[in-house]
Amino acid sequence: MESLLNASNIDIAVSKLINKYHNAKYYLNFNSPNELLVCVMLSPQTKDETINKITPKLFSKYKTLKDFSNADPDELINYVRNVNFAKNKIKNIINASKIIVNEYNGKIPNNIDQLLNLPGIGRKSAISILINAYNIIEGIPVDTWVIKLSFRIGLSLSKNPDKIEADLEKIIDKKYWGKISYVLKQHGKETCKSVPICSKCIINDLCKKNNVVKSL
Ligand code: SF4
Repeated sequence: MESLLNASNIDIAVSKLINKYHNAKYYLNFNSPNELLVCVMLSPQTKDETINKITPKLFSKYKTLKDFSNADPDELINYVRNVNFAKNKIKNIINASKIIVNEYNGKIPNNIDQLLNLPGIGRKSAISILINAYNIIEGIPVDTWVIKLSFRIGLSLSKNPDKIEADLEKIIDKKYWGKISYVLKQHGKETCKSVPICSKCIINDLCKKNNVVKSL
């Protein structure tokens, strides 16, 4: 296992972060599993703020997955213009909506394999949907914040999301799997920024990066 912290330091660091950011939650706004699916599919390579800004108008026009399944791409694109790779994403949203309407009676599947078979849904998206729509924990969603902070702190030496997820799942108690990604993201936004503020960090006595810098 490629963790640079020992098991007891990992437990302390994770507990401290979970306690500090106990209110951390999924960062996209949604009111139903259907809206969550669409948010998740729009979100890659696009800022959360952009998604949260455009979705109220989008969901007031397209209220159900049936609406999305019948959407005209040339009209739908007008609602998601600021989203990166919008054309490809709306194609996947329309096709995924058709499958869910036709094969799952309009209900988002609560099974990871069925979710992974939908167009445009990768592992991170599937895990996020299960956590936030159904409170089903199948793994840890690994986004760019998780990649960056896991390496800095010393939870994983890998830059590969699948390997990082496997590393984290070996060392972090399963009761935290549904929360840890949002906790790391919050910590990244507040303290472990591009230029980390290590002097004010609650885990600076444990963190690999801070201790490497100090020992130089
Ligand atoms: S000590 Fe510094 S690098 Fe480590 S988690 Fe804290 S802010 Fe990030």
